[in-house]
Amino acid sequence: MTTGIDIAIDSRLADPTLMKQAAYIDGEWIPAPARDGLVVTNPSTGATLAVLPAMGTAETKDAIEAAERALGPWRSRSAIERSRILRRWADLIRENADDIAIIESAEQGKPVGEARDEVVYSASFLDWFAEEGRRVYGDVIPSNSADARIIVIKQPVGVTGGITPWNLPAAMITRKVAPALAAGCTIVFKPAEQTPLTALALMALGERAGVPAGVVNMVTTLDPPAVGLELTTNQTVRKLSFTGSTEVGKILMRQASGNIQKLSLELGGNSPFIVFDDADIDKAIDGVVSAKFRNGGQICTGANRVFVQEGVKDAFTEALVRRAAAVKVGDGFTAGTEMGPLIDEAGVAKVERHVADIVDKGGRVLTGGHRHELGRTFYEPTVISDLPRDSLPWYEETFGPVASIATFADEDDVIDLANDTEYGLVAYVYTHDVGRVFRVSEALETGMVAINTGRVSNEMAPFGGIKQSGLGREGSKYGIDDWLELKYINLAGLSR
Ligand code: ADP
Repeated sequence: MTTGIDIAIDSRLADPTLMKQAAYIDGEWIPAPARDGLVVTNPSTGATLAVLPAMGTAETKDAIEAAERALGPWRSRSAIERSRILRRWADLIRENADDIAIIESAEQGKPVGEARDEVVYSASFLDWFAEEGRRVYGDVIPSNSADARIIVIKQPVGVTGGITPWNLPAAMITRKVAPALAAGCTIVFKPAEQTPLTALALMALGERAGVPAGVVNMVTTLDPPAVGLELTTNQTVRKLSFTGSTEVGKILMRQASGNIQKLSLELGGNSPFIVFDDADIDKAIDGVVSAKFRNGGQICTGANRVFVQEGVKDAFTEALVRRAAAVKVGDGFTAGTEMGPLIDEAGVAKVERHVADIVDKGGRVLTGGHRHELGRTFYEPTVISDLPRDSLPWYEETFGPVASIATFADEDDVIDLANDTEYGLVAYVYTHDVGRVFRVSEALETGMVAINTGRVSNEMAPFGGIKQSGLGREGSKYGIDDWLELKYINLAGLSR
C-alpha cells in the first residue's frame, strides 16, 4: 500500500490542495494514520489515489457533537447571509470545475468531460437553494376565535446526516448540503468509500466560501454500517438523507424507527423506457443511449427495461445495436472516451450475472455481452432482445451498460409491463400523441416521467421516487421542505 498521491493525477491539477487526504470534522482536516486507512483507487487502472482515515462510531459522535455546537449560530444567521455563502461556494465550484472533474474521473472512472458536466450541475443546487432559503415563508391562518390568529412558521430540522453513493459523487453531495444549509440545518456526511475525494474537494471549497466549522462535516470510513448506525440512532440527529440501494435504505429505515427520525430516501430504480410506434426513432435512440450508457449505466435513473412497440421493433433494435457497438470505451482521461469502467469488480460481477440469466432464460445478445478487451472493470456496451419476464433485470436494476429490449402490443399492455416492478423512480416515454402522453404518464407508477427525452435531473424539478424507490423529493421548491419543520403558534388574547 502506498500513502502517496498518484503523481499523474496530482500533476494535472491547477490547485493540488483540492486533493485532500483527510476527513473533515469541526473545521479540522484530520489525516489518515500511517497505516490501515481507507485506500481510494482508480477503477480504470487500480492505482492508489489517496489514503483516508478509517473512522468509526467515536469519530461520528464527534462530528455530530460539532454539528450540534454549530447549529445555534448557523440557524440564527439571516437567510441572506447563508445564501451568500452558498452562492460563493457555487462560484468556487465552477471556477475549479476542471480540477474537481479530474479528481472525480480518477476515483469514479467516468470520462473527464462527463465528470465536468456533473460538477457544474452540482453547483446549480447551491445556487438554487441559496434562493429557496430566502423564500421559506410561513402562513397566517384565520382562527375560529375572534381574539386569536394562527401563525405557522418553518424552522430547520436541526442536526442532520447525509449518506451518498459513488455514481454521482459531486451532485449527490450538493443536492443534500444545499437545502440543508439554506434551511439552517447542519450536517454530517458519510460519502461513499469509492469516491470520497470529490466530496472532500467540494468541502475544501465550502470552507473557502465561508461555511463555518461544524456546519458541514465529512466522515470517511471502512465501516459504513457503524457510521450509519450512529447517524440513525444518535438522538441529536433529527434527519437522515440517504441516496443508495433499496436494500441499505431499508436497513437505515429500520434503525431510524427507534428515533422516529425524519428520512429522505433516494433508492434504486428499474426504469422502463417505452417507445411507441409513432415515436421519432432517432430521438428515441439518442434518449436510450443517454439513459443507458451514460456513466456506464450506473445511475438510478438508468433505463433498465426497454419496451418497444411491435411496429418499430426492428428499426429501433438495429439502430440501437449500431450505436451501442460504436460507443468508445476507455480510460476516463483518454480523448474521445464515451464510457469508462464500472466502479469495481462487484459491479462487473452483477452485470455478468444479469446477462447470464437473460441468456439462460431465452434472451438474445445482439452486441456486447462480455467483459471489454481492456480487462479489469471494463464491460462492453450491450444490447439484448427478447428480455424474458422472469429474468433478473426485469425485477432489479442491472447498474451497467446493458440495454435489454422487450416488445409490447398496445398501451394497456405496456402499462402493465412497466408497472410490474416494486420500484417507481422514473419512466421514459417516446410518442407524439398528446392524449397518450397524459394517459400513460398518469398510469405509470413512478415519481417522474420523461416524455421524448432521456434526462430528468435538474435543480428546478422535484426528483424522487414512489414504491420502493424512496421517500421525499430533492431539488425544486419542494426540496427544502424535507429539511424544515412546521411550527404552529396559536396567538390568542387579542381582544381588549
Ligand atoms: P451501492 O451498492 O450502489 O454501493 P449502497 O446502498 O451499498 O449502494 O451504498 C450507498 C451508500 O450507502 C454508500 O455511501 C455506502 O457506504 C453506504 N452504506 C452501505 N451499507 C450501509 C449501512 N449498512 N449503513 C449505512 N450506510 C451504508
